[in-house]
Amino acid sequence: MTEQHDRTIQHGNATGGGVVVAIDVGGTGMKCGLVRPDGVVVHTERHPTEAARGPAAVVDTILDVAEGLTGKAHGAGITPVALGIAVPGVVDEARGVAVWSANVGFRDVPLRDLAVARLGLPATLGHDVRAGGIAEARLGAGREAGHVLFVAIGTGIAAAHVVDGVAYIGAHGAAGEFGHILVRPGGPRCGCGRSGCLEAVASAAAVGRRYRELAGTPGTAAEVAERAAAGEPVAVRVWQEAVEALADGLATAQALLDVATVVVGGGLAQAGVRLLDPLRAALRERVTFHREPRLVAAALGDEAGCLGAALLALDAHGGVSTTMEAR
Ligand SMILES: [Zn+2]
Repeated sequence: MTEQHDRTIQHGNATGGGVVVAIDVGGTGMKCGLVRPDGVVVHTERHPTEAARGPAAVVDTILDVAEGLTGKAHGAGITPVALGIAVPGVVDEARGVAVWSANVGFRDVPLRDLAVARLGLPATLGHDVRAGGIAEARLGAGREAGHVLFVAIGTGIAAAHVVDGVAYIGAHGAAGEFGHILVRPGGPRCGCGRSGCLEAVASAAAVGRRYRELAGTPGTAAEVAERAAAGEPVAVRVWQEAVEALADGLATAQALLDVATVVVGGGLAQAGVRLLDPLRAALRERVTFHREPRLVAAALGDEAGCLGAALLALDAHGGVSTTMEAR
């Protein structure tokens, strides 16, 4: 289950500023790495989260993995200088507490302090989608823009508003719940308990559900995208419904945020132009006096959260954290 990759793991003074240990905790897997202050990833690992074991066991695994990574850095003659952890759900970044998470089961876990106690390194706790957004905005598809909205469309839908490389957190640590914009009043029921949220219409899970409902046969979001491109009428309809709901959500977001670039990531974005081209057209129909944002696919794939966790740690604990020399 566990995979490891050494990229350019360099010994000695080639890595002068040391490395940050970065861990992105997801519902199914953890993406982990050693990241240099210039954003170069020198080592990656993946471990299963096995969330069904309960939050205490997941915390133990996070700390074990972090300890293992610091050991690998030392073994390569590199000094680990800080630890960055990104987790899903509601995160109190100031206190370093994983407040609540549906898929990992965290309830008020003081993860940052636990990590500091175990590793003796300065640590930072961040939110997974905000971390991914920071990485895309600084190092990925949004790097030319100061104002970026990163939208992750997978099982759920969430977003991060990043201005000059810093993600907006909100008063309660809960900004960016893009999936819970109301787009279809009275529509499908959302996991949050309300009907008609964007996530209930346009997430990868929702696309699969809707297709099964109308076609009577199963289909993943990727299959629906493929069948729609091939002209299958039910798939065309389901895909179009999702695209229009996403465009409604993005038009609302743009009215509020006026970003330069929208970076679309997550599983659904793997449909590529089959998503982005119709979405761009649908958004264009919806903007009036607002400026249409550039709509682009995410560039960093599923490593964005891990890179973002590293950037958060570098921001908090010193070092040159970005490659934004052009700014
Ligand atoms: Zn909802």
